[in-house]
Amino acid sequence: MLKQLKLAVMGGTFDPIHYGHLVTAEAARCGFNLDKVVFVPSGRPPHKREKNITPAEDRFGMTTLAVATNPFFEVSRVEIDRPGFSYAIDTVTAFFDYYGNSIELFFITGADAILEILTWKHVDRLMEKCHFIAATRPGFHLNDINNLPEQFVEKIIFMEVPALAISSTDIRRRVEENRPIKYLLPESVEEYIYRHHLYR
Ligand code: NAP
Repeated sequence: MLKQLKLAVMGGTFDPIHYGHLVTAEAARCGFNLDKVVFVPSGRPPHKREKNITPAEDRFGMTTLAVATNPFFEVSRVEIDRPGFSYAIDTVTAFFDYYGNSIELFFITGADAILEILTWKHVDRLMEKCHFIAATRPGFHLNDINNLPEQFVEKIIFMEVPALAISSTDIRRRVEENRPIKYLLPESVEEYIYRHHLYR
């Protein structure tokens, strides 16, 4: 009998990708015996319409550099190449269309994003299609999930990732203020940021 493929979508804006994201993906891969983790940089995040986000090609480029040394990691352009806003339900559906309905799919992202899941498009369908892994930063309190219906909470796996003390917001601010970002993200990504004058 063929083994069921266990895949994960690692969803995020990745502006920029950092070691917190990479540690999260690797911990999920090992913890849940995943065959592959596919990083999906968000194309046009629906909840960030007013915000200044780095162009998708730069975020895709940095993500590709960051995952290059891990044979179990891949990057997908599915949200970047899809016109319109990037909804998780469309991405998850695209994965089933591509890999077939027999895969077991996980969706990994930050717990803060998942706390807003009630506002996501077709959340009921989404919940039926995949497991959710919510990566929490140190200091995250499970009380914060009180506003989610119980049937959703039951389906979300919370995973504490100490390396998520690193944050993209902090990295962008550091670059703007000429402070170091070394050791917070892969060197190749650091070089990309300086070479392309990002976050100035
Ligand atoms: P965000 O609001 O920028 O991030 C929320 C928090 O989660 C931040 O602290 C962020 O830290 C952290 N985070 C984000 N991605 C992470 C990851 N893969 N692993 C660990 N921590 C992560 O959220 P976002 O990045 O825009 O969106 C996260 C995912 O949710 C994306 O795949 C997005 O498409 C999806 N989403 C879908 C809908 C929808 O379908 N309607 C709506 C909202 C979000 P950093 O800033 O350090 O990354």
